Amino acid sequence: MLKINEIYASIQGESSHTGLPCIFIRLTGCNLRCSWCDTAYAFHKGDDLTVEETMQKVETFSLPLVEITGGEPLMQEDVYPLMVALLEKGYKVMLETGGALPIDKVPEKVIKILDIKCPGSGEEKRNHLENLKFLATHDEIKFVLLDRADYEWSRDLLQKYDLPSSTQVLFSPVFDKLDLKDLSEWILEDQLSVRLQTQLHKVIWSKDAIGV
Ligand code: SF4
Repeated sequence: MLKINEIYASIQGESSHTGLPCIFIRLTGCNLRCSWCDTAYAFHKGDDLTVEETMQKVETFSLPLVEITGGEPLMQEDVYPLMVALLEKGYKVMLETGGALPIDKVPEKVIKILDIKCPGSGEEKRNHLENLKFLATHDEIKFVLLDRADYEWSRDLLQKYDLPSSTQVLFSPVFDKLDLKDLSEWILEDQLSVRLQTQLHKVIWSKDAIGV
């Protein structure tokens, strides 16, 4: 059984898949409490659905791309058979995880967006950095940056771990807190090979909109 907060279709607002229509499956519950969290509504509220019922809801949309997100989707055991069922049906599957739980059991074909929590989130001690060993070339790591201190922390962590050059690294400012222009200038000054992103869905709709 899965506890699901919402299933909806929207424009993918993050990652290198930004701009593509995508079905989102948001699982209820999170083991973290990031200071800038924009999805606290998913901490507790949700409906109990089997994997089969979840698939039926997903199949009401005619889109090939699905993202499983949260909350923290890896807290629920049935997320694994759900990922397998989606892959078997031919969906391109993305998984966004907060980075505190191991990702080694996630099916290889799933595109993992692995958050690395910066100090500004208040949760950086929860990072399970062993996860960096289990990234496939199609996976991406994401830093959400609150301020200059978070930027420097992330830049230094990237230098320390010396990830393969193929690793997609996303730098995303906390919406309305860190200026995109400032972050762009820092990235250029340091000539970092990272991808700047913003949360496109918040630009299209609004920063507080739910279910889009
Ligand atoms: S991991 Fe995501 S859902 Fe959980 S507290 Fe942090 S931002 Fe919110």
